[in-house]
Amino acid sequence: MKLLFVSTPVGPLGSGLGGGVELSLYNIAKEVMRRGHDLQIVAPAGSTWDDLPIMQISGSLQIIAQSLERETPIAMPSNPVLANMWDYVRQVESEYDLIVNFAYDWLPFYLTPFLKIPVAHFVSMASLSDALDLIIVQTSKQFPGTIGFYTSAQAATFPELTFPIYYLSSGIDLSLYQFCGKPKQQFAWLGRISPEKGLEDALAVAKSTNIPLKVMGKIQDESYWQKIQQVYSNAPFEYLGFLSTKEMQQVVRQCQALIMTPRWVEAFGNVAIEALACGVPVISYSRGGPASIIKHGETGFLVEPDSVTGLIEATKRLDRINRQTCRDTAQKVFSLEALGERFEKWFVDILNFQV
Ligand code: UDP
Repeated sequence: MKLLFVSTPVGPLGSGLGGGVELSLYNIAKEVMRRGHDLQIVAPAGSTWDDLPIMQISGSLQIIAQSLERETPIAMPSNPVLANMWDYVRQVESEYDLIVNFAYDWLPFYLTPFLKIPVAHFVSMASLSDALDLIIVQTSKQFPGTIGFYTSAQAATFPELTFPIYYLSSGIDLSLYQFCGKPKQQFAWLGRISPEKGLEDALAVAKSTNIPLKVMGKIQDESYWQKIQQVYSNAPFEYLGFLSTKEMQQVVRQCQALIMTPRWVEAFGNVAIEALACGVPVISYSRGGPASIIKHGETGFLVEPDSVTGLIEATKRLDRINRQTCRDTAQKVFSLEALGERFEKWFVDILNFQV
């Protein structure tokens, strides 16, 4: 197949501003190329990620949907990179079989009927905006089978979708994550530093248990970060910055557990499978993607949402988890090969349906 991937418009690929969808796009791209498909990626200027074939498009970045209210009207800055990327798509579409949209935004859905070739829409977050919900529902009706989600828990947050719906989960290159059977006495927290990720609850766990917390990730909301640092100034935590996969897994693998504290319905949670790949159990609130990734008592613990006490209790039971089981699960369920198979089938189904 000749595939045209259109990246998230909230940040350059590799910047971390786009969150987990950046790693997902990267992994899907690597795997479809390994399978012999032709690929071109369209992404905001400044995107750098290994040797991926990226067409860089300039323009102003889009505001992230998590920071807006549900009823906020669709808005765009002047000279929007989102519109510029799709203008490029319109110019080159005849050279491809399928366009794959990774933007969690209204415009690509709206443009779909105007394009000559089919568009597969990979939806990377749960429902956050009324306007986006409506156009996703309309697109699923007009172009059945073209909407893909990470998980069923994520898809369930959208109203009245038309079947078939594709649940594509995620996957990683296991060779980039090394197993560690003997961790240090420390915990990890990974992700965008933004209120919906609930980092303050992990800081509360560090404070209560007095076990150091290694914090890694992009600071997306500076004032929120300043505030929670002040509140937990006496907790044993260390902020290491936004690290590359290589650096990040070196720290994570030496931790007793990854603490996940999502306040929202996390669509998936790539960080959970990255930790498992290193043999690190995951303790998370039981909601959204993590609830379908973690096997309670086997690869970590799922605790009552928003219960810091629940997280603390779970940290005391970590000796019951076999770290090798965590790595094995990642290998079995979340390999790049398995990811590639699911996406390839979705793409083939769309092309067969359109013919
Ligand atoms: N991440 C990273 N370096 C860091 C911390 C996080 O590369 O120091 C990446 C991590 O690999 C993951 C992403 O940030 O791919 C977070 O994605 P996740 O799906 O967990 O959440 P999202 O940001 O999409 O809500």
